[in-house]
Amino acid sequence: MPKQISLFNTATRTVEVFKPITPGEVGIYCCGPTVYNYAHIGNLRTYVFEDVLRRTFDAIGYKVNHVMNITDVGHLQSDADDGDDKMLLASKREQKSPWDIAEFYTKEFFRHSEALGVVKPHIVCKATDHIQEMIDMVEQLVAKGFAYEANGNVYFEVSKFDDYTKFANLQLDAQQATERVEKDENKRDQADFCLWFSQSKYPNQIMKWDSPWGVGFPGWHIECSAMSRKYLGDRFDIHCGGIDHIPVHHTNEIAQSDCCHGHQTVNLWMHGAFLTVDSGKMSKSAGGFLTVDRLTEENFAPLAYRYLILTAHYRSELKFSFDALESAQNAYQGLLEKIQEWRSGDVIDINEDSETLREYKQKFWQAMCEDLHTPSALTVVWSVVKDKHLNNSEKLHLVTDFDRALGLELAKVDRGDLSEHEQTLMEQRKLARDNKQWAESDRLRDELLALGITLKDSKNGMEWTRVKK
Ligand code: AMP
Ligand code: ZN
Repeated sequence: MPKQISLFNTATRTVEVFKPITPGEVGIYCCGPTVYNYAHIGNLRTYVFEDVLRRTFDAIGYKVNHVMNITDVGHLQSDADDGDDKMLLASKREQKSPWDIAEFYTKEFFRHSEALGVVKPHIVCKATDHIQEMIDMVEQLVAKGFAYEANGNVYFEVSKFDDYTKFANLQLDAQQATERVEKDENKRDQADFCLWFSQSKYPNQIMKWDSPWGVGFPGWHIECSAMSRKYLGDRFDIHCGGIDHIPVHHTNEIAQSDCCHGHQTVNLWMHGAFLTVDSGKMSKSAGGFLTVDRLTEENFAPLAYRYLILTAHYRSELKFSFDALESAQNAYQGLLEKIQEWRSGDVIDINEDSETLREYKQKFWQAMCEDLHTPSALTVVWSVVKDKHLNNSEKLHLVTDFDRALGLELAKVDRGDLSEHEQTLMEQRKLARDNKQWAESDRLRDELLALGITLKDSKNGMEWTRVKK
């Protein structure tokens, strides 16, 4: 039987013991990326948190079904969106069709996720492949009296759902008074939200589909309600996203799903806190954001960023700086060097069930099972590293076990030998350094980094670690 795990539920604002709908199984739905641009490292913090959740369930013995959507419809993110449709803008900017834009950024999203050790969800579903499921759900909401058509658009009538404000503790009147939103005459109440647009504010929308209400496109929220139902059913275990989704996207998802199904759809809601920078939240539309590629250009290994993410609890804001990333990279590299040192020693037969090993495992997994407390879990990792009573094989055994949740690729650390090409680059770099050709030396260091080799210049010469094969 799987171990017990407790998780913070946004809906109840408490840490709850997780009770699966089907014993031993867990269904997890995660709001996926909008693919009109690169995912920034803030977005990716949320996907790393969800990956840690999935890995922890896996490690403690659950059968996981992890579902994530891709928001590839060029729709508006809310009824209040001003400016152009973002997919259309990207399409103009890059002289590509919206479909090509979506395909390109979806691939880039998975390339960056993979670099951060994020395991691909079991099911990845594109919004554009599920328009019919969305239309079906909108029709059901209209038939049940929760939604109405007005001038070719369909709206959800918020006043029909008593609990609408409960999830996010919303003050609708105050919200409307402060929002500078153009009034939509089609709405019965300005708090109502759109399920289907046929009369869009943006008539030159490129992505359009036929529907019972006219040619148009779906609202944003209906995509997650329709796809989570298709792949996880009308009652499922866990729904995740970033905290920005609480007041609008997830509030509206709950309204749609629960009213359509006539009962509560999601048992537990989990939200990851923001990655911030000096100027505030890192955001896609604000521009000037950081990508994984930018970190690599600055000589940081993507997994060092994952390490940085793990140093903070997922519900605490994490302030990003290159200094913080550098400290994380140093710690991560130190860990890899230790592991390489352990590996290069003799293999000793160990008793995996010894009391000391069991105690360490107990401490580590308890930290993970108490609402994914990764900072405490990393403290356990370092206690193992420093424990003089453990031999190298025991240490290796423990960190390999822990890495099932951490995803830092510690189990894969085996720097192996340098290839001939790598050896040549190392020698060229040594020569450049000896001749004080710093620019050339930096260039060669970057070339080695691109091959997954990080260097440290020390008194003893140049030490190297293979961060990724
Ligand atoms: P988007 O592609 O904008 O829909 O965002 C993808 C995911 O990233 C969502 O779960 C957002 O809640 C989350 N997100 C957006 N900005 C940040 C941020 N600065 N830090 C952490 N997560 C974020
Ligand atoms: Zn969603």
